[in-house]
Amino acid sequence: MLVDSHCHINFPELAGDLEGVVSRMRDADVTHALCVSVSLETCPEVLAIAERFPNIYASVGVHPNERGGAEPTVDGLVKLAAHPRVVAIGETGLDYYREGGDLEWQRDRFRTHIRAAQRCSKPLIIHCRQAPEDTLAILKAEGAEEIGGVMHCFTETLPVAQQAMAMNFHISFSGIVTFSNARALREVARDVPLERLLIETDSPYLAPTPYRGKTNEPAYVRWVAEQISEIKHVGLAEVAKATSGNFFSLFKPEAP
Ligand SMILES: [Zn+2]
Ligand SMILES: [Zn+2]
Repeated sequence: MLVDSHCHINFPELAGDLEGVVSRMRDADVTHALCVSVSLETCPEVLAIAERFPNIYASVGVHPNERGGAEPTVDGLVKLAAHPRVVAIGETGLDYYREGGDLEWQRDRFRTHIRAAQRCSKPLIIHCRQAPEDTLAILKAEGAEEIGGVMHCFTETLPVAQQAMAMNFHISFSGIVTFSNARALREVARDVPLERLLIETDSPYLAPTPYRGKTNEPAYVRWVAEQISEIKHVGLAEVAKATSGNFFSLFKPEAP
């Protein structure tokens, strides 16, 4: 049994074939998935998917690269998070790769999410791209340790992973660990203990090898699990058991 801890099956690449997505999950022994929100405008469709499928959970939040939509507030996020299918706040964080200039607005938005997560006692889903120092500094300054969460689609170094783990965060690896040029990341994955590790697809993007370049979907999280099993020299069943157990103890979903 495997769990995809981060996907976007509400995106147009997958939204038209949700029955197919869920049935291919079943065929691949992927029992659950977490559909992550990226904007307030698309939160309702994410919540609708989680209402329709008992094995798909939801998060609420606004992605750091999202521009032009409604800006989240602490109160607004807390209200959305009261929905019984919502298990986390995010995705939030910092992305200095796709945005330039004065990014104080991005850091403010990040702080808003952390405060909302603290108010509703739900873990954070953190997106961090080319901004590890500021991400860790803000998590620390805001006391995010009390709430914890996950550094999703992790591509940073081992010291960054260790600092995040010291603040009560899990580390989630995507299909990037299967890419031939990701040797350094595989070494990080080898050194992250299984009890802190999650796996994800971030679908529809980042399809793992052998599907690289194609539309990704939650069923393919199996390929991430197999890569982790190879890197760590532990059986696939052990990787599955640990990562699924971590998912449920971190997100604590309510029974449907
Ligand atoms: Zn992300
Ligand atoms: Zn994402």
